[in-house]
Amino acid sequence: MHPDVEKILLNEEQIKERVAQLGRQISQDYQGESILMVGILKGAMIFLADLVRHINVPTFFDFMAVSSYGAGTVSSGAVRILKDLEKSIHGRHVIIVEDIVDTGLTLQYLVENMKARGPASLKICTLLDKPSRRKVAVPVDYNGFSIPDEFVVGYGLDYNERYRNLPYIAVLKPEIYQI
Ligand code: 5GP
Ligand code: MG
Ligand code: MG
Repeated sequence: MHPDVEKILLNEEQIKERVAQLGRQISQDYQGESILMVGILKGAMIFLADLVRHINVPTFFDFMAVSSYGAGTVSSGAVRILKDLEKSIHGRHVIIVEDIVDTGLTLQYLVENMKARGPASLKICTLLDKPSRRKVAVPVDYNGFSIPDEFVVGYGLDYNERYRNLPYIAVLKPEIYQI
């Protein structure tokens, strides 16, 4: 275990199993279609990479980067597009792939933004959900795990850009957040 980690919330085995289940469910739901997976950088990259290897219908990727948090651990509510989609999503079956839904503000913005581009359908897939922190309702279609209100890192999720490479989802020691 990494020395900065206080506890592991979800281990590699648990994540692997759940991600495979989600992939199988998505494959069933989209039989006969092709999917455009829109990964929200950078947090969702590892989840997306693992997820798509369990999907057996034609799958395309695009990415968007938005900022909502800055350096801290509290949502500002302000969403800025840092990198936009490469191609039109008009007429495509789009799944937004997120690392975590917290207040829901980021996804609310993304859903409105993408709906305006005229996809054939739009669904949301998130690895993690913190339902107790929700400020706005967002329709989550695929959720890996619901977790308590704790700031987590690993498997793509960062604290000040660190810890994304941890293979599990963990909570850091309190002293790490104070420096
Ligand atoms: P929301 O707009 O739903 O409040 O927050 C969405 C974004 O905030 C997530 O996509 C993620 O980047 C970041 N975030 C929210 N909660 C956590 C957390 O517990 N850990 C990390 N690393 N990022 C979080
Ligand atoms: Mg995110
Ligand atoms: Mg972050």
